[in-house]
Amino acid sequence: MSRIHLLPEEVASQVAAGEVIERPASVVKELVENSIDAGSRKIEVMIRRGGVSTISVVDDGIGMDRDDALLCLERHATSKIRTGHDLAAITTLGFRGEALPSIASVSRFRLATRERDALVGTEVIINGGKIETVRDGGEAPGTQIEVRSLFYNLPARRKFLRSENTESSHVEQQLHLQAIGHPHIGFVFVNDEKPVYQLPATPNLIDRIRDLSGRDLAEQLLEIRGGGGDGISVSGFIGKPGVSRSTRTQQIIFINGRAVENSTIHYALREGYHTALMKGQYPVTYLFIEMDPAAVDVNVHPAKREVRFRDPSTVREIIVESIRKTIESGRSEWSKTFSPAPAGLPVAQPARIPEETLPLIEAREQVTLRRDWSSLPLQNDTRQAASVIARAEQAMVATPVPVPAAAAPRTNADPQNFRILGVLGKLYVLMENETGLVLVDQHAAHERILFEELRRRMEDQGVPCQRLLMPLTIQVNPRDNDWILQNIPTLNKMGIAIEQFGSGTFKIDALPQFIKTGDPLQLIRDIIDELRQTSDSTSKLRLGEDVIATTVCRHAVKANDYLREPELVRLVQDLLACELPYCCPHGRPTMIQISYLELEKKFGRKA
Ligand code: ADP
Ligand code: MG
Repeated sequence: MSRIHLLPEEVASQVAAGEVIERPASVVKELVENSIDAGSRKIEVMIRRGGVSTISVVDDGIGMDRDDALLCLERHATSKIRTGHDLAAITTLGFRGEALPSIASVSRFRLATRERDALVGTEVIINGGKIETVRDGGEAPGTQIEVRSLFYNLPARRKFLRSENTESSHVEQQLHLQAIGHPHIGFVFVNDEKPVYQLPATPNLIDRIRDLSGRDLAEQLLEIRGGGGDGISVSGFIGKPGVSRSTRTQQIIFINGRAVENSTIHYALREGYHTALMKGQYPVTYLFIEMDPAAVDVNVHPAKREVRFRDPSTVREIIVESIRKTIESGRSEWSKTFSPAPAGLPVAQPARIPEETLPLIEAREQVTLRRDWSSLPLQNDTRQAASVIARAEQAMVATPVPVPAAAAPRTNADPQNFRILGVLGKLYVLMENETGLVLVDQHAAHERILFEELRRRMEDQGVPCQRLLMPLTIQVNPRDNDWILQNIPTLNKMGIAIEQFGSGTFKIDALPQFIKTGDPLQLIRDIIDELRQTSDSTSKLRLGEDVIATTVCRHAVKANDYLREPELVRLVQDLLACELPYCCPHGRPTMIQISYLELEKKFGRKA
């Protein structure tokens, strides 16, 4: 007896539904995508009890005639592609013809639709995949779909649903994505009879972002524009350096209008931000990538969340470059608020320091504020220097930086000025500018200054290296062998003197001066691994930057180093001269502004 049989259509649909319809949010996604594909200007979504009891999506799109209203419920029925060839360049959000039959097979489903010029519309009612009613209806032009009792006939799936709150927050997140992706469409969202939002259509993405996420977030964004050359363009908004989240939820990426997850892009974002992003944090992005639909395969994931690129490295390069340029250009706006005071503006007077401690302070200054990289303390000096600093600090406990008795009156002078007020907790430099109070983390600021200085050095002249007493040899596999051979110049620039010493073996004579490691071979292996991960045409020195960043940290001003007024001014000026002054090499902010407005709110002077 044969064991194999074809599944009844109903069961086959439920199997298919298992792939696309995981939870109420997936129903909302599919229905809203259909409404977008139908050219709607306004989409209204209503859910009850997390969407499990009811989901309703009403649009004003092109609608369907009676035949299509019935056909759209068949599996693999679609108006969006015709031949296998069309799959190679998809321009609509849907294309598989699977969503409506899948949803209808696992719910009580009602479809009402009317074409714009048609006299009557059509209403279809389906329960668990079986058509119950088909009749004429006098609906408004467009399409209304109501999905009730989701998974009522699929108890196994229903058991996996979470609480109503969780489900409705997934729905909301899904709608958030769609609303960001399509600002020219108006969206209404009602949850358990409560209006959640009503978003007017707008030509401007930033208006939509503001409407959805508030003014504060909108102000933390930089506009991004890039690409163009290879038929790939990048637009949208990205968070300023230091603006980040601990999850990916605000890292929103669209490719040709479709919200996607893609590891190439995730890496590219990280690489583009580089030191402007804290470890373990994710950037805030509203990134819109437009490209030839033939260059991206969207038919790789059941829910079409993931995509594959024909040429991932080009995509990556374009994104990295666009992000980097945007972050660097954000600098000019930033420095407007913080640029140094012109001569003549009153600054707090330096502390009067007892004569006998001056030599000690100078000794410490040599260590902490040294501008000359070549004389950065090496291991031994550091220890010596540290004890000098400690002594200097002891001597100075009694001489805090004075805070002026009465703050100078605010003038209408140039808003770019700042004035140093003092130091809080031996770490935060307090400054006043036209907008309010500015706090500078002196440790983070100094890290950034040293970091950029070292990197400049490195790019210009290579890293000073230290000869090893005994050359090291490193054995590598054939793949690494080739990679090292091709990258010897880069490695040399990074202060690693390496040369081939027979096949699969290299000799290392020198290492970067500033690197302290007990296991240089491991270090070299790590460097090779990390360098290989960065994309080909982005700077090979990137990794060098990372190494520098961590090294700098050890040499930078420690939190409780005592700085005198001129040193503070110098620190701030040097910081402002940096390429990326707003955060330290680990992505932590260097400066925080607290505006008068915020202060007034805190003191209850303003509502
Ligand atoms: P797909 O979107 O992959 O084509 P669906 O099952 O989601 O498959 O929809 C099937 C077809 O039904 C679509 O191709 C479209 O022609 C039609 N359709 C679905 N929803 C709407 C809508 N809101 N307005 C107009 N036509 C729709
Ligand atoms: Mg669809």
